[in-house]
Amino acid sequence: MIELKDVNFKYKNGKEVLKNINLQISEGEFVSIIGKNGSGKSTLAKLISGLEKPKKGTVLIDELDTKKKANFQELRKKVGIVFQNPENQILFNNVYDDIAFAINNLKLNDIEIRIQQALEKVDMKEFIKSNTYELSLGQKQRVTIAGVLAINSKYIIFDESTTMLDSYGKETFYKILRTLKEQGYTIIYITNAIDEILMADRIVLIKKGEIISQFKKEDILENIDVLKSNSIEIPYLVNFVEKLNINGIKVELEKWTKEELIEKVIEVYKK
Ligand code: ADP
Repeated sequence: MIELKDVNFKYKNGKEVLKNINLQISEGEFVSIIGKNGSGKSTLAKLISGLEKPKKGTVLIDELDTKKKANFQELRKKVGIVFQNPENQILFNNVYDDIAFAINNLKLNDIEIRIQQALEKVDMKEFIKSNTYELSLGQKQRVTIAGVLAINSKYIIFDESTTMLDSYGKETFYKILRTLKEQGYTIIYITNAIDEILMADRIVLIKKGEIISQFKKEDILENIDVLKSNSIEIPYLVNFVEKLNINGIKVELEKWTKEELIEKVIEVYKK
């Protein structure tokens, strides 16, 4: 479990960027973190991954305090992070070397098997010997995900990881994400692409460094006002379903498949 207790944080010489953050994320959960630019989402990701330490309060990952130096190595294994631009995250010219680097650094065994299995999970097995600079951005992003999977991190943070991908890259990425969720990984998903929050179990809204609201995905219709009043865009499907509901057509959120929605639209037109 990830636990943030009364966490405050500021950068050197800066103002407070995170204030009184209390957040728990259970194993296997998929939590989406949203908020305007500059609200503190990436900083929160850095605190969870141990890249930054809280000025006040504690961040515990499976009860390991991120402030304790002795926990550093173990924390690097537990929490992986995938950033926006894979080109900044890939350090080597070769896929194998790039993934092997972190495995070696953490002194883990079975390098070959780890790399093969991780690349298989992101559908990139045949690229094991490829040059990283010859890959598309989407493929590079999959290599960075494989890097995290090769360490066997159970907590994975995605920080606006789809921003630079084209539509094919995004679709492939979402497929991988769904598989990771099914396999029980804990996912912390920071996004500005509002439609993506519907993949999550829970949505956490941050404003000016504070958590101002959090709710389960299935309760999103009841939370439209809080999103609107904080100038957060409403996901397309949520808008759509809200309009159906206003028209007296009840759609249960768990059943939002394309097919069901098409049927509902047909009902509206028949009216
Ligand atoms: P978000 O991810 O929601 O866009 P960030 O966590 O990146 O927000 O930033 C929160 C605040 O912290 C912003 O005011 C930003 O300018 C500031 N900030 C981010 N990184 C640094 C840094 N390395 N040094 C100083 N200030 C920073």
